Amino acid sequence: MKIETRLSPNRQIGELKSPKAIMLHHTGGGTYQSNINHFLNATSHVSCHYLIGKNGECARIANDEDRAWHAGTGRALTLSNGFVIPENMGNDYCFGIFLVNAGDNRDPYTMAQYLTLDTLIASLRLRYGALPIIDHKMYSSGKIDMGANFPLSNYIRYGRRYPLCPYAEPAATLRSGMNDAGVKWLQWHLSVKGYSLVIDGIFGPNTLAAVRAFQGSNGLVVDGLVGPLTKNKLKEGIAKCPYSEPANTLGSGAKGSGVQWIQWHLNLRGYDLATDGVFGPLTLAAARDFQSKSGLTVDGLVGPLTRNKLKADMYFSL
Ligand SMILES: [Zn+2]
Repeated sequence: MKIETRLSPNRQIGELKSPKAIMLHHTGGGTYQSNINHFLNATSHVSCHYLIGKNGECARIANDEDRAWHAGTGRALTLSNGFVIPENMGNDYCFGIFLVNAGDNRDPYTMAQYLTLDTLIASLRLRYGALPIIDHKMYSSGKIDMGANFPLSNYIRYGRRYPLCPYAEPAATLRSGMNDAGVKWLQWHLSVKGYSLVIDGIFGPNTLAAVRAFQGSNGLVVDGLVGPLTKNKLKEGIAKCPYSEPANTLGSGAKGSGVQWIQWHLNLRGYDLATDGVFGPLTLAAARDFQSKSGLTVDGLVGPLTRNKLKADMYFSL
């Protein structure tokens, strides 16, 4: 995710007290560029930390340590992490993210916007802790953003449009009595679909009952066996990193989807790289910096150890 820096005069440099939540807004109209102009206009008296356009483009309007002007007045709000934002102090404790949208409950948010927002949230959470997601209307009673066509509940629950599964999909058909990581994949997916299960890898009576109920309500044969058809139904609406993890060690000069996997994961760690699949100087610098900060050998080569570090903690529990 490439972030362009367009710092607003409407911010207080270094005066965010502490990031405790991420507050989402819609722009209520305009284009990516016209909204940047609005934030750069000192007479508008508004700013935010990030603006996301319809094509997924992203601008940094205030630095993370700055106090931006987006929350306005609001009530005291107790967050899911227990922190209470005091009345009228949303700007002191929240990152503000705006998405370009008409805000009329009809204008659709784009997949490109979701992908950028998801990456941005994951990146902020990796750096600042598991920040809860709130929207402007949760804080300020007079506000309507985010509107009815934004999947706010998914963001509150998963921190993203779609949840990410931390378990590998099993190749085999799963059945009652099994006990392995593939069953965890199954239990995770059933949990996301609303079934209440312990993710322990044991395909016992509760898991079997959930599978049968899921099959029954999805037009599948109710046999309690988890084969390709049931797996595909379970996967509907669940996202993952859009690129495949490379099998080989990759370094400077490499090209292809394996490099995109590296760039996507580096971006989650806060680096601003284009996911263009070209392992150029910027990707090399980011890889070396990541290795240095992760206690790895700083050789700029992304092999199994660096890949494992890139993947560590990137999935958030439900
Ligand atoms: Zn707002």
